[in-house]
Amino acid sequence: MRILLVEDEKKVADIIVRGLKAERFAVDACHDGQSGWEAANAYNYDLIILDLMLPGLTGTEILEKIRRKNSLVPVLILTARDAMADKIKNFEAGADDYLTKPFAFAELLLRVKALLRRGPVNRASVIRVGDLEIDRLSQNVKRAGKKIVLTAKEYALLEYLATQPGRVFSRTMIIEHVWDQSFEGLTNIVDVYVRHLREKVDDAHTIKLLCTVRGVGYSLNDGTPA
Ligand code: CA
Repeated sequence: MRILLVEDEKKVADIIVRGLKAERFAVDACHDGQSGWEAANAYNYDLIILDLMLPGLTGTEILEKIRRKNSLVPVLILTARDAMADKIKNFEAGADDYLTKPFAFAELLLRVKALLRRGPVNRASVIRVGDLEIDRLSQNVKRAGKKIVLTAKEYALLEYLATQPGRVFSRTMIIEHVWDQSFEGLTNIVDVYVRHLREKVDDAHTIKLLCTVRGVGYSLNDGTPA
């Protein structure tokens, strides 16, 4: 696993690099924003650790550039700023985790390992499938620009299917991800909710986005033939 660290405070950077290398990670360190972005752009890292206050480009600017490139690399933000507004801004820009200085290296390591275990995920705040638009922050859903009002469970189901358009999810997977552990009903609850979703999402349109794969489950497709 290869990690990029962008941190201008040499002392902090050295501690992190030494600690991560002791854990057998390959680590590249950059000490300013510009070289940090160049490294992030040039190499396909498994994880990037970004300080926010950097000479050259800020950590947030680097993060925005990374996400604009559609890179799904996990990004951990490291910063002395603990204001909530900053956290929200960086999560919206596509950060995966946030650690406030000063921190214990042990905690950094736990977070690094957790992010690497999870791997790249689609964290875009707006998911588009065909002409369907799902805003994961506001939980607003639109099709062809028209707002669709969904219940909480309908929304959760739609968002889950939309995380991987074209992938077929079994009823069991859907139950496990959309309903909680206390759910002991029948798996046909999924069929009921898919039916509700179809009425709201597909009925008024010629192109149907919700697909049934007989005997397997459901998927959300962008309407173009596979
Ligand atoms: Ca700094």
